[in-house]
Amino acid sequence: MGVLFAKSYVTQLTDNVKRSLEEKLRNGELSTHAPFGYRNCRKDGKAFVEPDNHAPIVCEMFQRYATSAYSLRSMRDWVFESYAIKKPVSTIAHILKNPFYCGFILHGEKLYPHKYEVLVDKELFDKVQSVLGRMHKTPHKYCGKPFVYRGLITCSECGCRITIEEQKGHIYYHCTQHKGKHGARYVREETFNAQVVQALSDICPTDEQYRILIEAMQKECANDEEKRKAILAHLVSERSKNEKRAERLFDLYLDGELDKEEYQARRQELNAERTVLNRQIANVDNNTGEWFENIQSIMDLVKNAPLLFEQSSKIPLKRQLLKIIFSNLELSNNQLRYEYNKPFNLMTFREKCPTWSG
Ligand SMILES: [Zn+2]
Repeated sequence: MGVLFAKSYVTQLTDNVKRSLEEKLRNGELSTHAPFGYRNCRKDGKAFVEPDNHAPIVCEMFQRYATSAYSLRSMRDWVFESYAIKKPVSTIAHILKNPFYCGFILHGEKLYPHKYEVLVDKELFDKVQSVLGRMHKTPHKYCGKPFVYRGLITCSECGCRITIEEQKGHIYYHCTQHKGKHGARYVREETFNAQVVQALSDICPTDEQYRILIEAMQKECANDEEKRKAILAHLVSERSKNEKRAERLFDLYLDGELDKEEYQARRQELNAERTVLNRQIANVDNNTGEWFENIQSIMDLVKNAPLLFEQSSKIPLKRQLLKIIFSNLELSNNQLRYEYNKPFNLMTFREKCPTWSG
């Protein structure tokens, strides 16, 4: 469990109106330059992307290329001869591989459905990819529409993935039953949500518990700080003793009470000791109460989790929350089974856990 991640998660939620690029992508908006065949424009005062007069060329390129009658070079030549547009082969390839034309923005390794007019349908696009496929064999994973539990739940009966269907405004989850039918039922997303909120509430401390915990940690932290200061003081005094010894040693040498060899041997000893002391002092100096901040972040997270999950409309944030706190999500009949990740498995603040917990 990434403590720092939990921390950044909390921060992210606290200043909640951060419109990131990711969010823009999820809204299906292109924030970069429109590809060939489209133009950037404004619509109702907002940035928009729409097909331009090159759009028919793109359509025809896909149709022709899908026939397998063209190589990338002959496609380049055809574009030039027909439209007097000069494009290098690499650009031709780029156009034919760009899923934007069939409705998706490629960002990183993910595809996000966009909200603009498409120039070719998915079938034609896929056909072109399979023709291109002789060179390029890695198909993109279509992330499709984001759903809260997509890919996170398996069937407890057969171990298959739980898949999603949208019907009449409701989202249903059910086992794919790839390994054979077993009468899997459809479960509404709301059912899962209610169970997750309950599971999050089970590890959520009350205000009183939260206050006591934070106080206890602060005390612990103060104790640590006292110990740290005591150790530091001890080390510093040891070092000054060492320095005084070195001075005295030098005096003895000057007074002729030590010969050079003996003096040098002892001085070396003292130097070595001082090096160790300096290192120890630096270590203790740096060791401040960072762990306290980390634990407080986790506490803040569990404290807010039920409300965040219930009220946030941001699906990726909900998914992050699920991934941070739970593992082994399984669907068993209508019930979610789960395990808490560390350290949340230790946070059983409520006396009684509901019977459906995993
Ligand atoms: Zn199943």
